[in-house]
Amino acid sequence: MDFEQKLQETSALLQKIASDFAPAVFANSFGAEDMVITHLIAKLNLPIQIFSLDTGRLPAETYTLMQEVAQHYPTHPIKVYFPATAAVEQYVNQHGINAFYESVELRKSCCHIRKIEPLQRALKGQTAWVTGLRRQQSPTRTDLGYQEYDSGNGLEKFNPLIEWTEKEVWAYIRAQNIPYNKLHDQHVPSIGCAPCTRPIAMGEDVRAGRWWWENPDSKECGLHVKKI
Ligand code: SF4
Repeated sequence: MDFEQKLQETSALLQKIASDFAPAVFANSFGAEDMVITHLIAKLNLPIQIFSLDTGRLPAETYTLMQEVAQHYPTHPIKVYFPATAAVEQYVNQHGINAFYESVELRKSCCHIRKIEPLQRALKGQTAWVTGLRRQQSPTRTDLGYQEYDSGNGLEKFNPLIEWTEKEVWAYIRAQNIPYNKLHDQHVPSIGCAPCTRPIAMGEDVRAGRWWWENPDSKECGLHVKKI
């Protein structure tokens, strides 16, 4: 499939989601792929609510982009969800501000408080959610398709960029002059929270800089994990 066909398929799928799966939302974490979807939703003027999870630990560059996106796409303001204050306070006071480095359990528990619980609130009452996942991104994403039922959250999940390559994502960003996270210019292809993201070396897997101290098989924050 050439790029023009992929772009058409992605656009058609987004239109179908908006018309057949309303209310639908798009989870934007401000990575390169998410900026492509944000651009398409705005360009096609689709009634898909864009939201983002502010974990409280995001890099400064992500906040800069958040502001830039608000100005660039005024027709589609992004709704921001924050973690529950009491849960963050309890975690930090009991385990420490950077306890996620100590064990996979404490890392997952931090992700649960700062990402999963706010995500569950964002998805409540929705028919479908859209993500910017691509198949090539990591060993945990090789069996993904365009559409799957998210049994954990009880709604349809769509991955319109599933077939896109990294090169195609960047070619489209440059061609359309889409705003992007400046950390990508510093060898950080996959951006999450500041303390859990670092640059990668040449030839390393694109998600190698996320939770780099953990085994590759455990490296998902739980946002995209299927219930078995
Ligand atoms: Fe916490 Fe790191 Fe997960 Fe962010 S990525 S929620 S800081 S463990």
